Amino acid sequence: MIPAPLNMSYLFKSALLVNLDPPRVERGDLRIAAGNIIERGSSLEAREDEEIIDLTGKLVMPGMVCAHTHLYSALARGMPAPPRTPTNFKEILEFVWWRLDRALDEETIYWSAMAGAMDAARAGTTCLFDHHASPSHISGSLQIVREAIEKIGLRAVLCYEVTDRGGSDERDRGLDENRSFLNWTKQTGSSKPALFRGLVGAHASFTLNDESLGACSELMRDFDAGLHIHAAEDMCDVNDARDKFGLGVVERLAKHGALNNQTILAHGVHLSVEDIEIARAAGVWFAHNPRSNMNNQVGYAPVEKFGERVVLGTDGIGADMFEEARSAFFKGRDEGLNFGADAWLRVLANNQRLASQAFGDDFGSLAPGSAADLVVLDYQSPTPVTPENLAWHFAFGINSAAVESMLVNGRFVIRDRLHALDDLCAESRRAAEKLWARLQRL
Ligand SMILES: [Zn+2]
Repeated sequence: MIPAPLNMSYLFKSALLVNLDPPRVERGDLRIAAGNIIERGSSLEAREDEEIIDLTGKLVMPGMVCAHTHLYSALARGMPAPPRTPTNFKEILEFVWWRLDRALDEETIYWSAMAGAMDAARAGTTCLFDHHASPSHISGSLQIVREAIEKIGLRAVLCYEVTDRGGSDERDRGLDENRSFLNWTKQTGSSKPALFRGLVGAHASFTLNDESLGACSELMRDFDAGLHIHAAEDMCDVNDARDKFGLGVVERLAKHGALNNQTILAHGVHLSVEDIEIARAAGVWFAHNPRSNMNNQVGYAPVEKFGERVVLGTDGIGADMFEEARSAFFKGRDEGLNFGADAWLRVLANNQRLASQAFGDDFGSLAPGSAADLVVLDYQSPTPVTPENLAWHFAFGINSAAVESMLVNGRFVIRDRLHALDDLCAESRRAAEKLWARLQRL
């Protein structure tokens, strides 16, 4: 497949148009041009300059957004076991992830991002909030990630993970990497369409001293940006903040001025009631990552207490938001959470709201003027799909295998299940072998 030119116009005919919040299912047409939905109606007349695509029997919904991921871990699947089996969360970081990210070089950063972004595209995820770390190759790493994501055709909000774990020199280079990417987005942001934005990335309270946290917060102020940070993922973060600083994790972030309504707190598993109150008052987003939390055995996050601004992330376990939402639903049921399937549909819509805030555009409404980041689903349901039961189709039926096509900025990234780059697996397997060989030397 040859990628369509940017100025291509389409008329989607007779699709089932699906909105997540409030749930809406309506047969209709969409006219797409210059990156946006420009018209929506029950029967639009075709124009000469546009391609007509008959979507009878297909669903069209706004693109999925992943609110917290790590593309750098895309080549970790099946990697050699660590020298010792981790027995707690800190050891999972030390023995697995902090060795993997240190083994990344220019080539493997690129192929991790390519492989991860391709997975996302095939799952109907149009926008990624990525949290990157590659301590052996920090400077310029975000541009490598960006280049790969751009090649696949997605939209993304990037940041580099600032941490003290590699000493002050690595920390400073991490800060510089955030600064130079934020500068780059500032320069390119005014030209439409903006496909990339930045946040200030930080690992977690327990790997940042006061000076480092202060420097992150300064960057946030300089660029009017949010912070993207892991918060109370494990009790070790909570204990560290209490023992060293006599504060809650969020209380400590607040003290440094590191909270605002663009900030993403990932996990929040062990946040206290007081910390949650402070975070909610600052209007932060809480990124719930149920599969990662289960995998790391860190506990169940108090999602019911997080309020209205809950979003979902995969934390690097692919970027399939259908699967993440379904896992969130089942895990919530298992925990006795008072969240029906409809609540998780609202959370998926929040992910689109998060993207709307980051890009200053409308994602998620399918209304005229909104961004044409769309997913076409070939979902053959044995039962009717209605606004009233849509959430239950997401819980028990619709999955990413139904993704037939997806568009970002009005351009087909996947069309009829094909991507212009076709199969990257042979090349990413080669990169993975190199990465794993280096990993075993660390
Ligand atoms: Zn994470």
